[in-house]
This record gives sequence, structure tokens and C-alpha cells, in this order.
Amino acid sequence: MIVVLRAGCTPEQRIALVRAIEAAGLRARVSEDHHRVVITVGGDEDRIRGVSLAAFDGVEKVVAFKKPYRLAAREFHPRDTVVEVGTDGIGGAHLVVMAGPCAVESEEGIFAAAEAVRAAGATILRGGAFKPRTSPYQFQGLGKPGLKMLRDAGRHFGLAVITEAMDTRHIDQVAEHADIIQIGTRNMQNFALLKAAAKTDSPILLKRGRACTVEEWLCAAEYILNGGNDRVILCERGLVSFDTAVRNQLDLSSVPLVKRLSHLPIVVDPSHGTGRADLVPAMARAAVAAGADGLLIEMHPKPKAARSDAAQALLPETLAALVPQLHAIREIARGNVAELPGV
Ligand code: PEP
Ligand code: MN
Repeated sequence: MIVVLRAGCTPEQRIALVRAIEAAGLRARVSEDHHRVVITVGGDEDRIRGVSLAAFDGVEKVVAFKKPYRLAAREFHPRDTVVEVGTDGIGGAHLVVMAGPCAVESEEGIFAAAEAVRAAGATILRGGAFKPRTSPYQFQGLGKPGLKMLRDAGRHFGLAVITEAMDTRHIDQVAEHADIIQIGTRNMQNFALLKAAAKTDSPILLKRGRACTVEEWLCAAEYILNGGNDRVILCERGLVSFDTAVRNQLDLSSVPLVKRLSHLPIVVDPSHGTGRADLVPAMARAAVAAGADGLLIEMHPKPKAARSDAAQALLPETLAALVPQLHAIREIARGNVAELPGV
């Protein structure tokens, strides 16, 4: 439930309410939006059934929440959340482009990729050190040495870095080396991992499960928010489908839908979303037109030699041509048409 406070509610009245909620073994999260103070009650609401919060001084109304997620809901937080990463604000006015290889393969390779990412005008370097692979015989990533290579390459070229954590035991080392922790599609409902991610202060990029509904995805985000970390970025990366012509069916309708349902920023991964480098630029442009706050794109200096996901990696020059187009589309999508050259 959400407790909406009256405009003139005093700090003492607010404290009394928070104490009553906490005394029932629940969590009270106080937030202020549009000069309105609301307290979101977290936990098993049955524990507070006998207490009428509406009768407390300073309370305007108590709103029962029917959705299975609350902190992720737009109703709870009408304004867009902006997650600060380095000099970028994901969910803010500007589009954020994250790019790099599927996996960190060598020090030389990730430095070459970082240089290309920087030259293309993207600001965040991606690269997996712990790779979730379908077969145990496929390249599994370099592990901890890969994390260090990624961080060093990012630092050298002034790029923030993002990489995946697959296991609760790796969360701390990933948090130490990366600016954003990625939770992959296969782990979207790994609740132990979500809870561990919630204990860090790092931004968490939460990919949509490959066969999960938008509601399940927002519930997964809720685990992280409810655990105390409000720096969540959602990432649409496509769903399994009957059609083998593409690797996944990229659900771009989730972008405007999530914008309605939630205040969290959302980015799109057209690389895993299609599995085909020739389709990535068009789907990246479409994602921005649909309102995405950013892109996560695979790019490899030598795509044919990539040890994973070679078919979907862009060439550096394709990324460099794409990034300015994405920024121009973002301006149109936000209605800043007058700022476009020649418009
Ligand atoms: C990745 O981005 O490296 C990845 C493995 O993606 P997904 O979890 O979407 O398959
Ligand atoms: Mn990949």
C-alpha cells in the first residue's frame, strides 16, 4: 500500500507513521515527488491489517496497491528515474550508447574495442568476463582477469564499463571492477542474484528474461529496489519465438509500455535481439524512435574472429556511422525537432 501525506504533515507525524509501519515488521520508504510526500509500505501487508494508517494525523489517504510490484511502478514515482553512470545520466535527456564485444577475449582485443567505441562516440564499454553459454564446451569468458582488462581499457579511453555477474559469489568483484553490473536474460529470475545485486550501490542493468512477461520483469526489478538499490536500468533483449530466421523476437512494444508502467530507464539490446549484424542498425534506430533511453550493442574489431556471438557483432565503422543517427532520432523522439540540423 501507499500512504499519501497531507501537504501540511509535520515531521513528527511522519515519524509516528514510519514507526507504526516498522513496528509491524514492515518497511517504510518515504519519498517526495511533485511536493507530495508518500510512504510506500514494503513487506507482507497482512501484518498491518489491524492498524488503520488512514486514522493517523497527517494522512490524506491510503491507497491499496493491486500490482505485484510497487517501487518500480510509475504511480509510486511519477517522474522518470535517471541513473547516473560516470558522466552519463541513463533515463535523462541524452541517449546513452554502450558498445563492445560480447566477451573480453584478450587485453589487446579489449583495448582495440575500447578505442573503437570511443571513436564511435559511445560512452560505455561492454564486455563479458563471465559468459553464460548454452554449451559447456563453448568459450566461458576469462573470469576475473577479464574484469581487470575491461576496467583498464575503459579507464584508458575514458569509458565507463558494464559486465555481467552470473553468480552471487562474483557480485562483489564485478561491482569492484565495473560501473554497471549486468544481470543477463537467463538470470532475470535468479532471486538470490537479484538480492545480492540489491546489496551493492552499483547501477544494475536487468535484462528481460527470454520468456518472461513485462510484469515478471518489473517484479524482478522490484527485488532489487526492495532490497535497497534504486539504480535499476531495464534492458529489452528479445524473446524466444518459433521463428528461427532471427535469434530472438525483439519486443520493441515493451519500450513504450514500460515507460507507462514504470519510472525506470529502459535500454534495448538489438544484438541479442536479432542475432544478425545486418539487422542491428535498423532495430537500434527503431528502439530509439520507440523511446529507449539507450542501446547495448555488440561490436568487435574483427567480428569473424569473435569467440562468441560473431554473427551479431558490428564492425567498428558500422557503429561509428550508427551513433550519430541514434542521437538525431533521440532528438526527434523527444520532440526537439528544431535542434536537428536542416530541420
Ligand atoms: C550479453 O549481453 O552478453 C548476454 C549474454 O546477453 P543476454 O543475457 O541477453 O543473452
Ligand atoms: Mn553476446
